[in-house]
Amino acid sequence: MGKHIIIIGSGLGGLTCGYILAKNGYRVTVLEKNAQVGGCLQTFTRRGVKFETGMHYIGSMEEGQLLHHFFRYLNLLSDVKLRPLDREAYDLISIGGERFPFANGTEHFTEQLAKYFPKEEDSLRRYWQAIHEATESSPLHSLKTTNEPIVLNPSHIKLSYDKFLENVTNNELLRLVLAGNLPLYAGERGKTPMYISAFINDFYNRSAYRIVGGSETIALSLVKSIRAMGGEVLPSAEVVKINCDDKQAVNVSLKNGETIEGDYFISNMHPVRMVEMVESSLLRKSYRDRIAAMNNTISNFTVYIAFKKDTVPYFNSNFYHYNTPADVWRGKDYEQSAYPSSFLYMHLCSSENQQFADAAVLISYMNFEDVAQWTGTKVGRRGADYEAFKKEKAEKLLDLLERQIPHTRQNIEHYYTSSPLTYLDYTGTEHGSMYGVMRDCNESIHSLVSQRTRIPNLFQTGQNVNSHGILGVIIGSILTAGELLGVNHIVKQIKNAD
Ligand SMILES: Cc1cc2nc3c(=O)[nH]c(=O)nc-3n(C[C@H](O)[C@H](O)[C@H](O)COP(=O)(O)OP(=O)(O)OC[C@H]3O[C@@H](n4cnc5c(N)ncnc54)[C@H](O)[C@@H]3O)c2cc1C
Repeated sequence: MGKHIIIIGSGLGGLTCGYILAKNGYRVTVLEKNAQVGGCLQTFTRRGVKFETGMHYIGSMEEGQLLHHFFRYLNLLSDVKLRPLDREAYDLISIGGERFPFANGTEHFTEQLAKYFPKEEDSLRRYWQAIHEATESSPLHSLKTTNEPIVLNPSHIKLSYDKFLENVTNNELLRLVLAGNLPLYAGERGKTPMYISAFINDFYNRSAYRIVGGSETIALSLVKSIRAMGGEVLPSAEVVKINCDDKQAVNVSLKNGETIEGDYFISNMHPVRMVEMVESSLLRKSYRDRIAAMNNTISNFTVYIAFKKDTVPYFNSNFYHYNTPADVWRGKDYEQSAYPSSFLYMHLCSSENQQFADAAVLISYMNFEDVAQWTGTKVGRRGADYEAFKKEKAEKLLDLLERQIPHTRQNIEHYYTSSPLTYLDYTGTEHGSMYGVMRDCNESIHSLVSQRTRIPNLFQTGQNVNSHGILGVIIGSILTAGELLGVNHIVKQIKNAD
């Protein structure tokens, strides 16, 4: 066995790094604080109904498309079953009473939206051309090997998505429609770089799927493979300290008092958590201050709905609703008195050809400040006032859903809720942030987290490095594992796996 790699956290980033490094002969140990592995890939079951908490749909999974290459390499194809979303409307954008479908394929997408915006066909073509230019400029998105440092085109990094849309079209409603799936990346006006949106829209436009049985199937498959290659994945193993000598990291201390030594260490935690665990002066104050000052993407409040058996036909689109056009970019600036003014609603997929939905999620943005008074309380024991707060928010959300999709309420058997505190406690993400550190086109360097740290054998992975979502995190894991193996080596392995 090769050198010993300790990976802190079994989210998608930690498990993907673990898989790549175990496959290349390293001895891998993944340490996970929770009893369940997967981080945002976790699911939970109540009264026999399974709910996804943090990954609901994935894209680019047709043979020859990017995620399909990655899944083949990661040996996920046989364990992870998918169900395609409606090709005519994988996303359905609802703004102030009108509904606009996003269809798969750029031509089809253009034709569909041109029915609502007949004079905008050229704008839509320009939109997709610019998006493809952005994705093709990234070597990893086209699985090219390169000996140059991987740097994206500055024009895609420094331009905000809303400014990009202004360059594409003067039609304000079309611009809002094209921003309609902003909750997928918690986009902010004047801040979110065009490339973040471009990669995500390209990814889902090529093909879009729900994961049958939930995204935990991805985590469980990766764990099985890591173990089959001789690696260890240890749940209920919370790391409390990363200990260093005067040159590098030497071991980690666990909450149960154990110490585990390693040659290399990879943190899959939010960078704020990682910095808290390293006392060594090898991490400079300027780095610690920079990490502490970084802005994070907003958190969310979710209602997990279980339906009465065979009452609600399975809805094969993701439904993004905004009460008014002004709500599309409102994001974290929502008004308490007007809450909720938007939501994302998705049915969960429990079988490849189900006719009725068992469960759904209803997600809305929520700032951490709304629940900050309960910080430090424990899951399930936060008090009656917290329960009342959640009930009030949930009922308002369900009322708004009912106005958009009538007869839903009468078919609800039971529902559960989560808040920003739930995410903070389960995944350790700062302020319960959905997608971690926010990329900001005005501070393109300062909003980046490198996979390297000043400690030569301590690296980072996960959504804070590179970007979030299944694609962003897998590419980030290739960059992190590439620090030891070489990125080109991994890219060649991925191509050879086909
Ligand atoms: C509500 C929501 C919906 C989403 N929907 C989608 C979607 O539809 N499609 C998509 O592609 N992406 C989606 N995402 C994003 C995607 O789920 C994440 O970007 C990705 O799963 C993050 O993986 P990660 O490895 O970076 O981190 P995480 O999943 O946060 O994993 C970090 C892990 O580290 C562990 N950890 C933390 N501290 C310690 C410690 N001290 N010791 C040991 N372990 C520790 C945590 O318990 C956790 O398991 C969604 C996210 C959210 C929140």
